[in-house]
Order: sequence, then structure tokens, then C-alpha cells
Amino acid sequence: MIKPKIQRYKQPRTISEYPVGPSFQAGHLVFTNSNYRTFKPIIDITLCVGCLACYATCPDGALFRRGKKVSIDYDFCKGCGICASECKAKAIAMKKEEPGRNE
Ligand code: SF4
Ligand code: SF4
Repeated sequence: MIKPKIQRYKQPRTISEYPVGPSFQAGHLVFTNSNYRTFKPIIDITLCVGCLACYATCPDGALFRRGKKVSIDYDFCKGCGICASECKAKAIAMKKEEPGRNE
């Protein structure tokens, strides 16, 4: 699995150094999630059309491209569900996280 590259966090000093837009590109994340996810997104890859809407809107950069489709890095996914609501192909379903299985 290709994981986002973890980069050293650099404190922005000017407004222009802050990332622009609502989402981050995978690779800006520093910390893995803290086991507070209650729902997790599951991609049905047979329904995915590779539009990358989920990739573009995930606020945590947890989605990454795998060929012409996408995959989720659960180390960084917070379970917010934005990807599922943005997926017009209905390829992403939010499933309740099993207790103790938050990985
Ligand atoms: S939004 Fe849905 S169809 Fe588009 S890339 Fe993501 S999972 Fe695939
Ligand atoms: S549930 Fe939220 S954090 Fe997880 S992959 Fe989807 S948009 Fe990103």
C-alpha cells in the first residue's frame, strides 16, 4: 500500500504560507488518528469511477490514488464522511466502527 509521505510540520510565518483551500494533499499529515473514529468509509472499488471527488475533498488527506481509483489510509481517516457524501457514484459507504478495531 502506498501511504502518504509524512512531512515535518513547519509553522507558517505569514498568511501566504498557509495552505489554500479546504483540503490538503495527502502528505501534509503529521499525526495518525487517535482512535476516536466511530464510522469508517468503505470503498466499493467496483462502483468507483475514479472521479477523485473524494480525494479532492477529504480534509485529512487520507485518500490516495491507486492507479485510476482511490484507496483510504485508515491511519489518518477521521471518519467524517465527507468523502461518502461527495461520491456521486455511491461507491463509499460509512460503516460503524467495531469497538477496539479502530485502526
Ligand atoms: S468520489 Fe467515489 S467515484 Fe469518485 S474517486 Fe472517490 S470513490 Fe471513486
Ligand atoms: S471519512 Fe473523512 S477523513 Fe476519512 S477518508 Fe473520508 S473524508 Fe477523509
